[in-house]
Amino acid sequence: MLLAAPLQQAPSAGQIITLLVNTVRVLSSSRVAQPCWESRVLPVPDPRQVPRNAGLINRVPAISVHRLFGDRCPPVSLSCFQTPQRIPYYEAVRQEFTSAKVGDSFGPTWETCWFKVELSIPPAWAGREVHFVWESDGEGMVWRDAQPVQGLTKEGEKTSYVLTSSLKEMEPHSLTLDVHELLVDLEVLLDMAQLLGEENQRSFQALYAANQMVNVCDVTDPSTFPAARDLAAAIFSQRNGESQHTIHAMGHCHIDSAWLWPYEETIRKCARSWVTVVHLMECNPELTFACSQAQQFEWVRSWYPGLYAQIQDFVAKGQFIPVGGTWVEMDGNLPSGESMVRQFLQGQRFFQEQFGRICSEFWLPDTFGYSAQLPQLMRGCGIRRFLTQKLSWNLVNAFPHHTFFWEGIDGSRVLTHFPPGDSYGMHGRVEEMLKTVKNNKDKGRVNHSAFLFGFGDGGGGPTQKMLDRMKRMSDTDGLPRVQISTPDRLFSALEKESSQLCTWVGELFLELHNGTYTTQAQIKKGNRECERILHDVEVLSTLAVARGGVFQYPASELQRLWRLLLLNQFHDVLPGSCIQLVVEDALQYYGEIRRVGTRLQEEAVQSFCRELLQPEAGSAEGTLVLNTLPWERTEVISRPQPTGTETLALVTVPSMGYAIVREPLLSPSPVAVRKQENGSIVMENGVITACLDMMGHLTSLQLVDSARESVPDGCYANQFALFDDVPLYWDAWDVMDYHLETRKPVTTLLKPLEITLAGGLRGSASFSLQIGESSTLIQEIILDAMCPYLRFLTQVEWKEAHKFLKVEFPVQVRSTNATYEIQFGHLQRPTHWNTSWDWARFEVWAHKWLDLSEHGFGVALLNDCKYGASAHGNILSLSLLRAPKSPDATADITHHQFTYAVMPHLGSFQDAGVIQRAYNLNFPLHVFPASSAQHEAWSAFSVSSPAVVLETVKQAEDRPEAVVVRLYEAHGSTVIAWLQTALPVKEAMLCDLLEQPVGQGHLPLEQRGIRLSFTPFHVLSVLLVLRQ
Ligand SMILES: [Zn+2]
Repeated sequence: MLLAAPLQQAPSAGQIITLLVNTVRVLSSSRVAQPCWESRVLPVPDPRQVPRNAGLINRVPAISVHRLFGDRCPPVSLSCFQTPQRIPYYEAVRQEFTSAKVGDSFGPTWETCWFKVELSIPPAWAGREVHFVWESDGEGMVWRDAQPVQGLTKEGEKTSYVLTSSLKEMEPHSLTLDVHELLVDLEVLLDMAQLLGEENQRSFQALYAANQMVNVCDVTDPSTFPAARDLAAAIFSQRNGESQHTIHAMGHCHIDSAWLWPYEETIRKCARSWVTVVHLMECNPELTFACSQAQQFEWVRSWYPGLYAQIQDFVAKGQFIPVGGTWVEMDGNLPSGESMVRQFLQGQRFFQEQFGRICSEFWLPDTFGYSAQLPQLMRGCGIRRFLTQKLSWNLVNAFPHHTFFWEGIDGSRVLTHFPPGDSYGMHGRVEEMLKTVKNNKDKGRVNHSAFLFGFGDGGGGPTQKMLDRMKRMSDTDGLPRVQISTPDRLFSALEKESSQLCTWVGELFLELHNGTYTTQAQIKKGNRECERILHDVEVLSTLAVARGGVFQYPASELQRLWRLLLLNQFHDVLPGSCIQLVVEDALQYYGEIRRVGTRLQEEAVQSFCRELLQPEAGSAEGTLVLNTLPWERTEVISRPQPTGTETLALVTVPSMGYAIVREPLLSPSPVAVRKQENGSIVMENGVITACLDMMGHLTSLQLVDSARESVPDGCYANQFALFDDVPLYWDAWDVMDYHLETRKPVTTLLKPLEITLAGGLRGSASFSLQIGESSTLIQEIILDAMCPYLRFLTQVEWKEAHKFLKVEFPVQVRSTNATYEIQFGHLQRPTHWNTSWDWARFEVWAHKWLDLSEHGFGVALLNDCKYGASAHGNILSLSLLRAPKSPDATADITHHQFTYAVMPHLGSFQDAGVIQRAYNLNFPLHVFPASSAQHEAWSAFSVSSPAVVLETVKQAEDRPEAVVVRLYEAHGSTVIAWLQTALPVKEAMLCDLLEQPVGQGHLPLEQRGIRLSFTPFHVLSVLLVLRQ
């Protein structure tokens, strides 16, 4: 069969060459997809020829690449087959191909069409460069001799594949290259003439040189070309002075791991883009290419091993440069602290394993804001340098720096650079170089900038033309010095100049895309739940291993599940700015984590609680209650009964351990629920008293001991409000400040508040509302014995278009700042709109809680899966649901369930335990039927200070005999904490976030435990080696 026939790299005239091209139409804008697509296929090998219009100066930039091609000839044969699947090459070649012709249409979108093309180059073209030209509306890959050789995209300016640079059997001649070079010369000179400005004499020198070139160049006589080129070279070789700004150009190709295309297509996008980069590197040994996202390398490694081997060679040569250090370019706001650590842990370990080194810079050019905890996490993962540019998208305030030190909430600093051209997809044009210099906000402090060139988002990467443009600007008077460089060379230069740099403290908040904290609520919920599941699997599995027996820590399964979770944290998936196909994949991955995670939890519990779980013959049933959080908890649980019913019980469980419950505790103060004459309902539990009206509004919330009221007179808390939500630019991404002007309180009652549980250990009442035209909400308001917060279990049937649902809590607290939980800590944001920086944060993000406190009193709002929030004046709002229609017309139109809670408190939120209560809400106790025999309660870990949270307990990577525990200071205080453990610890040492030991050797094991010293928001990891 022809396809299998070996082919020489440089073909001879007349020889039949067979290529396979697979083409797929993908979405490239967030507009609704057309049902069908046209594919204009022009498979014609063409020699480059003199363009007729090369001499007309004003037409040069407009000259299409096709004017470079003169002679052309049709293919010998063209055949195809179409499939909805993304199949590998070896499967494709076995299919039956049917005849096709140039100009045929194929579709719909997402179908892949494989074309077999047979070519024969005319003998008359001997010695010339011969191109295979392919134009279709899709993205394609050319396969030759069963290997991918070239990606094709019209958008990425790649529509031809060079079959040979010099057809055999004659001396090569350089006519075609000369033409190409002349065109680039003219383009750069014209840009200089137009853009340097009339006050700059270099613009006139460039214009006159270009004019002279046209005069000496006779398009029909190639012998005139060298003289024209000499004129250009004379301008380009006039050097800059020593002080000129240096631009560090690096090839780049931003590939969204999923966005307007599903994950599976991204695998092929990576292959298409990177095979082209490799080919470009073969011809341009100076080309460098910065490439992030370990997941994408892993995809290419498993699906395109031949290409991956070539990439490895270029990595070894220092041209293909892995950057970023993370598994994917994740969202910078919503992943938990531990998730962010795992992004680096999985990423850096992959880069170390595959390429022998970790990345030294964090690379996140396209993410929608950056948590103030990131500097510390970067430093803990071997990274002191950070590159992004997204803050240039700020709608309100221009960020004041391009190169600066960024200081996180704990005081850690990283050198941060925003390429001043404000883009990660430059084309090597004069205009972009001038913008880079002009725009730089830190002139005088630094004289070096990054410049990332290459088509991005959907892939494509750098082109030869971009490189050729920049070659002319390497050191030309009037233009910045443009060097092909590397991230390391750039940051090393910036470090040398860093003595005068400014410092930005706190979060890098993006003043745009603030709807991404709320859009696609099921993805947000999946993320929060799966973070909890993996936390619990790790804790329980570690305890199971430490308790001995045959239990094997499920390291490889956990790695697989973590990688799924981390992948879904990609910056267009977790933010919800993706198409429906991606949402389906993401929800399926969460389903997989839930399913396997639940099994792993059960296996761990079965292993280390085996005797407890086996009821003895004739004994009454007991209950095993497991607590995966590092503090003792007293809570109401629901106990399954042998009859299939459930009963409530109040239990106390030690920190990170278990208790067997036979006789539940009696509550010192049972919950009482009373209906008043006016229909309102009062719920109290000895800690708080809540009064609710028939609409479910909270009209009063008091702390029993102090009688301090939380709800201002005449105000309603737990008030739902609906807003018109029609953003100007990006539907799924943005919520604009003007939506606040359209507030409509939800007032249509479907079912008034009724008592559903009369009290005892738990009291509850429920009601339902009509929201908007056709959505409904049912809420159960729950108060448990001894619990300091009131819980709102909410179900919404959501069928809106461009509406935003929030719930509001006006509180009787005055403060100019509210506090929001972030990764491993918290920060404050203003409650007023004094300056543009303040009002630009009308919609912000938080993790499990936010709090508004004055001296001695405050109110916190907790949640189990929400991220969008705001605090304006004395009103705390939680953002619940949005209904954007693009890029997913079905976004959020479904059933939703979520819980939030309100907790009034005396003293500070730290001393009142808001942080711990928010954890409790998110990490329910695990309950199993068990033996009723006498068993001591058991605690594996505890920490002496309430300021310190033991977040993570896991087996060390590659060290089955060691456990890693991660703790952080959560109050914002300097504190000593003692870590106690029942595990058989042989030695303990501090380690970094990559689990490498740091500092001076071992931590002493003392009677009180291991002494750990913290500064505010400090994250510490400890490696505990266990006795076997
Ligand atoms: Zn992106």
